[in-house]
Amino acid sequence: MKESVTLEEEKKISENIYRNIIQTSTDGFLVVSAEGHILDVNDVYATMSGYSKAELLTMRIPQLEANETEDDTASHIKNIIESGWDRFESAHRRRDGSTLKVEISTTFIPELNKFVAFIRDITKRKERFEQLQTILDSLDCLVYVADLNSYELLFVNKYGRDIFGDIKGKICWKSLQSGQNGPCAFCTNEKLLDVEGNPVGPIVWEFQNTLNNEWYECRDQVIEWLDGQLVRMEIATNITQRKKAENNRKKIEEQLRQSHKMEALGTLAGGIAHDFNNLLNAIIVNSDLLLRDIPEKNTAYQNASEIKKAGKQASKLVRQILAFSRRTEQKRQPVQLQNIIKDVLKLLRSTLPTTIEIHQAIDTNCSAVIADKIQVHQVVMNLFTNASHAMLNEKGLLVIKLQEVDVDHNLSLLVEDLSQGKYVQLTVSDTGYGMDRETMERIFEPYFTTKNKVEGTGLGMATVHGIVKNHGGAISIKSELGKGTTVSIFFPVADTPVALSQPKEQKKELPKINARVLFVDDVEFNVQIGTHVCEHLGCQATGFTSSVEALASFRQAPDRFDIVITDQTMPELTGFDLAQELFKIRPDIPVIMVTGHSHTVDEKKAKEAGIKDFLMKPLDIDILAESITKVLF
Ligand code: ADP
Ligand code: MG
Repeated sequence: MKESVTLEEEKKISENIYRNIIQTSTDGFLVVSAEGHILDVNDVYATMSGYSKAELLTMRIPQLEANETEDDTASHIKNIIESGWDRFESAHRRRDGSTLKVEISTTFIPELNKFVAFIRDITKRKERFEQLQTILDSLDCLVYVADLNSYELLFVNKYGRDIFGDIKGKICWKSLQSGQNGPCAFCTNEKLLDVEGNPVGPIVWEFQNTLNNEWYECRDQVIEWLDGQLVRMEIATNITQRKKAENNRKKIEEQLRQSHKMEALGTLAGGIAHDFNNLLNAIIVNSDLLLRDIPEKNTAYQNASEIKKAGKQASKLVRQILAFSRRTEQKRQPVQLQNIIKDVLKLLRSTLPTTIEIHQAIDTNCSAVIADKIQVHQVVMNLFTNASHAMLNEKGLLVIKLQEVDVDHNLSLLVEDLSQGKYVQLTVSDTGYGMDRETMERIFEPYFTTKNKVEGTGLGMATVHGIVKNHGGAISIKSELGKGTTVSIFFPVADTPVALSQPKEQKKELPKINARVLFVDDVEFNVQIGTHVCEHLGCQATGFTSSVEALASFRQAPDRFDIVITDQTMPELTGFDLAQELFKIRPDIPVIMVTGHSHTVDEKKAKEAGIKDFLMKPLDIDILAESITKVLF
C-alpha cells in the first residue's frame, strides 16, 4: 500500500516536472501519435504557429508542414530508428499562411507509441545568416577561412568558389596555389600571432597568385571561429589592373628618363660635333686643295690623299656618335637595303665562324627607302653583329630576310609605332642565346650591355632605335632565352618611286667660275678656307666673321656681290635671318647655306624661304663648285 502511494506520488511529481519543463521551455513542444495526430502541445508552439492549443489538438502534423516531402519523412524515421533521435531544419506554415522556419529535435518513445518533438523558431537566425551569406557572396573579393594548423578551408565565399571551385574542406595550399609541396613559403600564419599566441593586427601584402597569375592585395588576420578556435581569415582583392597601370607608369617614367638621358647626350655630342666638324672641314678642304695643286705622281699627293681619307672617315664617325641622339644632319637619298645587306655581309662573312650558317631570303625587287645610307649601314651592321655574338662558340643559323610589306591595320597593332603603309621589312633571326625579359626591356638603353668590355658598348641597339625612329620606321623584337632572337626593322617605302643616284666619278675638272662671293661664317678659319676655296674656283671672295657686318657691307653696295654663301649657326644674326634681310635689299640675290649641325633650319624650310641651296659641312670642293654653278647659271 505504502509503496503504491509512493509510486502514485512519484508519478505526480514527474508529471509536474514534465509539465514545468514543456511550459517553461523557450522551444515549442509537441507530442504526436504514430499516426501523426497532435496529442499535446505547449503555449510556445501555439504562439509560434498562431493556432490556439485547442485547434492544434485537432490537427495532424502534415497540416503544419510547409515543404516536407515523403522522402524527408522517411529519412527522419530511418535516423530515429538507427540512432534513437533526429534533428533537422524544416518549415511549418503558420495559421496566417506565412512560413515559420524551424529546427526540430525529435524522438520516438516505443512504450507510449508516441513521438515527442522540440521545435525551435529559427526564422530570425536564418534571416541573419542569409543576409550575411548574401553580403559575403556579393563581395567583389575573395574571403576564406582556414584552420591555422591543419590548413583546412573552413569557409570560402562565392567569389572564391567561382575562381577555385568548391574547395571548402580542402587544404588551402593545395587548392588556392599551384606547385606547393607543403604550406606555402609565403604563408603569413606565423606572423598573425604574437609570442604569447594572441592575434596581432591584420597583415596586408601583395601577391601574384601561382594558380591564376592574377595579383591580389591580401589582408590576413586571425579571428575566433564558431568553435572558439583561432583561425586565419583572408580577404583578397584583385589588383591586377592596378598593377598593370603601375607597371605602365613605371615603364613610361623609365622611357622619359631614357629620353632625357638621350637628350642630354645628344646636346653634348651635338656641341662637340659642331666644333669637331669645323676642324674636319679645315682638314678635308685643305687636303682637297693640296690634291688639286700637287701632281699625282708626287708622293705628297699620296699623303694628302691619306689625310683626306682619314678626315672623311672621322666625319663618318661623328655621324655615328650622333646617330643615336637623333641630332645628325642627314644626307637622305634613295637607298636600296638589298645592296647594303650585300655590303655588310661581305664585310662580316670573313669574321663569322664557319659554324654559323647564313640563309638569305632577299627580295631584290624591294622598293628603295629614303634614308641616310651610312645610318642604314649601321643598323644592318649592328643587327648582324648582335646575332653573330649571340651564336658565338655555337652552331647556329643566321636568317636574313628582306621583303616589302603592306602594313594593314592588324599588323600595325602588333608592332609599336608602326602605322599603316608600305614598308621594307628587314628581319634578322639567330638561333643564339636569346634574351630574358629584363634584357629585352633595356635593350634600347644606351650603354646597356650584357657583354664584356671588348665585345659590347651597349650603343648598338640604342643607335638602331634612334636611326629607325628618325626614319619614321619601327622595330619589333622577339626572343626566347636559349632559343634565339628575331629582330624586324620596318623602313617606310618612298612615296614616289625615285631614281637611284649614280656614284660620283672621282676628281673631275673643276669649272672656272667668275663670280663675286660674299662668304660669312663666325669661325675665322672657316672664312679663310671658304674664301680660299672660292678663289680656287676662280671667284672673287670677300669674307666676314660677323653676319651683322656682312649685312652692313651688303647694304652699302648690293650690286657688288653675285652670290652669298653663309653659315647657319652664328651669334646675333643667324644665316637664315641674314638671308631674309638680304632678300629685303635685293630679292634676287642667290644665297647658299652651309651648315654642320643645326636642327633649327632644315633644307625644306630654307628652300621655302628662298635660299637656293643647302650644303653640309665639311665642305666638299666639288659640291660647292657644282652648287655655285647651279645657283648662278
Ligand atoms: P652590345 O651589343 O654592345 O652589348 P647592343 O645595344 O647592341 O649592345 O645590345 C644590348 C644587349 O642586348 C646586348 O648586350 C645583348 O644582351 C642583347 N642583345 C642584342 N641583340 C641580341 C641578340 N640577337 N641575341 C641575344 N641578345 C641580344
Ligand atoms: Mg651590339
